[in-house]
Amino acid sequence: MTDSERLGRVVAIGTIGLDDIETPQASANGVLGGSATYACLASRLFAPTTMSSVVGQDFPASHRELLAGRDIDLSSLETADGRTFRWGGRYAENMNVRETTFVELNVLEHFDPQVPRHAVADSFVFLGNTDPNIQLRILDQVVNPRFVVVDSMDFWIEGNRQQVSNVFSRCDCVVLNDEEARLFGGHANIPRAVRTILDLGPTYVVVKRGEFGAALVSDHGWFFAPAYPLEEVVDPTGAGDAFAGAFLGSLAAAGATDQAALRRAVVYGSVVASFTVEAFSVDRLAELTRHDIDSRYVEFGEFAAF
Ligand code: AMP
Repeated sequence: MTDSERLGRVVAIGTIGLDDIETPQASANGVLGGSATYACLASRLFAPTTMSSVVGQDFPASHRELLAGRDIDLSSLETADGRTFRWGGRYAENMNVRETTFVELNVLEHFDPQVPRHAVADSFVFLGNTDPNIQLRILDQVVNPRFVVVDSMDFWIEGNRQQVSNVFSRCDCVVLNDEEARLFGGHANIPRAVRTILDLGPTYVVVKRGEFGAALVSDHGWFFAPAYPLEEVVDPTGAGDAFAGAFLGSLAAAGATDQAALRRAVVYGSVVASFTVEAFSVDRLAELTRHDIDSRYVEFGEFAAF
């Protein structure tokens, strides 16, 4: 097999949003966000990436140009009549605590995603945080996916738990933060909550724990990656989606999904997430280079070696 045959393609769905963000230090309105946005900007640093999502007529041309200019395949990005998905979030002094101030689904309500033909078969699939019915429609289209990662959040878990369970049961890996894992698993104890999720059928669960890092769990046991000790977190928005995009992108680049590749993927996810939170919106993520990633990856190895 040649290198280009080994290099997988990532297909990512999720939201593209215009976000209003408030932190204790600053705020920003109508900035580029959304789960697909962060995931694709992270994944394209590792592997060819196709984005399937929807925006409204109000989506600024400059945002579209930013995505197109980062080598993201936008052939299945739909522009629908209506307004783009909008979300507002406010962070507490402890930036691990966030309150959603509003959600406007807008064009997402009638979105029927289509995976382009060149990306249907043998892809690495990321079902980013969005309506579980949309996630299922993607799963129904892809043929022989190499690895499927899914993310969700309280909004969808509380709104349509049964459909979220149906999606989880058809994926290889569920990625959630600790609060979402507790909410979905129905246990305050994380190992028990994770067990509930594994019992649905996925082989892996990744639990993201903000400034405390991330854990990869399977029947092989637990693997922990630390978080990068940043002295200043500017905007935590999208860290989880960037983590998932880099995680899957690095698997696609390796053309492998064995334990060693998955452990490296967790570290790549943590590295890219750590850059993402250094600036508002996608400002830092969009400028990231492989050199930045590789330098911090080496530092991660040193944190955990003993
Ligand atoms: P994260 O910080 O990883 O939870 O991701 C935040 C991003 O997800 C923001 O840019 C929002 O636009 C987007 N988002 C917020 N709420 C939702 C939702 N209910 N479904 C999908 N995406 C959302």
